[in-house]
Amino acid sequence: MSDILFKCWNCSKCLAISDQAEGKNIYCPDCAKQLVIPKPSLNYKCVYCGYDLCSPRMYAGEEAGCPSCEQILTIPEESDAPDETGEISQDEKT
Ligand SMILES: [Zn+2]
Ligand SMILES: [Zn+2]
Repeated sequence: MSDILFKCWNCSKCLAISDQAEGKNIYCPDCAKQLVIPKPSLNYKCVYCGYDLCSPRMYAGEEAGCPSCEQILTIPEESDAPDETGEISQDEKT
């Protein structure tokens, strides 16, 4: 269980929403704008405690607090989970 950190794109209020609400519509408590909770698309582990985390891709590169150890870490640009591509970068000799 984790919370999705989510920013209202109308008033920029930060909201923490249960991950069970992903993909659903909510109303911003501040401006009453209807928002769709983005599905988390980045899965990664806390570099400090190894806690499984997920964030919407729109937050890649931003800082997030680990709910487990409360350290601040940077959301990676790419998911840790192995992807379909599976291409191994070839080290060309220079
Ligand atoms: Zn709002
Ligand atoms: Zn942690």
